[in-house]
Amino acid sequence: MKRKVMKWLFALCVPVFIIGMILRDDCVIPVDGATPKDWNPQSFWYTPWGRSGVHKGIDIFAKNGTPVLSSTKGLVLYSGPYGMGGNVVWVLGPKWRLHYYAHLSDSSVSAFKLVHIGAPIGRVGSSGNAAGKPPHLHYAIRSLIPLPWLATTQVQGWYRMFFIDPNTRLRVGLSST
Ligand SMILES: [Zn+2]
Repeated sequence: MKRKVMKWLFALCVPVFIIGMILRDDCVIPVDGATPKDWNPQSFWYTPWGRSGVHKGIDIFAKNGTPVLSSTKGLVLYSGPYGMGGNVVWVLGPKWRLHYYAHLSDSSVSAFKLVHIGAPIGRVGSSGNAAGKPPHLHYAIRSLIPLPWLATTQVQGWYRMFFIDPNTRLRVGLSST
């Protein structure tokens, strides 16, 4: 009986996994009106960086209250306070990638809602450990599937197989639109 259940679960997981992988992964810059000039391309994997050691995303600077947009279509997994990130939103997007939006002044989506690409999910702020710093969106893309070819010999370089460089990702997005 138990084996049968496992078999069914497996039969269900495989198509769900495949659907996730084949969804188109279009993306937009997740701050309304922002251009690549609003972040430093060198800031991804910058070290030393506070308590986390390495900066695993980019910081897109904008005025306090500027709308933060979902960079992809996806499913909101979490929206609310989250440690050093302050007010954050986690969105599960195509290809089993988690998109992380941090230091928001507030978020305007709730968990388990589907969002479109470019949909407003909150506003730029300086919550969490960005308190006292110029308002910015910390944006990171985590891959749930290890991508070993992204690993490097940098500090925490092995861990890079779980992180997409948002900088290149967003530039690709720009050139294809
Ligand atoms: Zn940051």
